[in-house]
Amino acid sequence: MKILPVPCLRDNYAYLLICEQSGHTAVVDPSEAAPVIKAFEAEQKKFPDLQLTAILNTHHHADHTGGNAELCEQFPDLKVYGHASDKGRITAQNVMLEDGDSLSVGELTGKAIFNPGHTTGAVSYAFEDALFTGDTLFGGGCGRVFEGTTLQMYESLNHVIGSFPDQTRIFFGHEYTVNNLRFALVVEPDNPQVRMRSQRAVALRGAGKATTPSTLAEERLTNPFLRCAEPAVIESIRRHDPQRGPHPSEVFRVLRAWKDKF
Ligand code: ZN
Ligand code: FE
Repeated sequence: MKILPVPCLRDNYAYLLICEQSGHTAVVDPSEAAPVIKAFEAEQKKFPDLQLTAILNTHHHADHTGGNAELCEQFPDLKVYGHASDKGRITAQNVMLEDGDSLSVGELTGKAIFNPGHTTGAVSYAFEDALFTGDTLFGGGCGRVFEGTTLQMYESLNHVIGSFPDQTRIFFGHEYTVNNLRFALVVEPDNPQVRMRSQRAVALRGAGKATTPSTLAEERLTNPFLRCAEPAVIESIRRHDPQRGPHPSEVFRVLRAWKDKF
């Protein structure tokens, strides 16, 4: 398994997911076709057996599906995956997934993980130790709650994605890490892990490098949205909104509203 991030638009990441045994390649969330085709063809020059076989969409937003139509024109046999409930709003979708459904890219077998909240049809894709989280989990943060409820988003992040092992590599949909960690530092100014990660992220971006992927272990140590039961986070949200109780889902609700205005 080989994964190549493809920067798209202003701050999106599509990913090429390559089965090195068969050459079958999927693209996760092609925001636009041109950079994806360019990255695929560059890789194909090195490995002539590569063939693009699938698009995996984490949700229907245009900055994650904008390249679907053009890619399907150029590669007419593509399978286009998305959640069943997104039928009609993911361009060219021809595979309707339910939670836990298996899918394969060549010899690689993956799983669709239903994690609503950012949208009602949001899924992540799990392949071996990699999880493609779209706009659900970001480096140091999470997506806005556009269609689902904050409770759904809390559960998707903390129970669904939260059930994956520490070493899971998180391939997220946007390069928002530096800004997310600025917020994380306001929430937890005394957390040395957040400070160090923030410095690392700034250095990477300064060198023109991506912060993707992270690991779930790193997110658990530094991402406030996965730290809703931590005393320091609870204390911080209570200063921000004294009315709110200490239940983790309530802490999450305050954090999300606070970040929306940050
Ligand atoms: Zn989105
Ligand atoms: Fe997005």
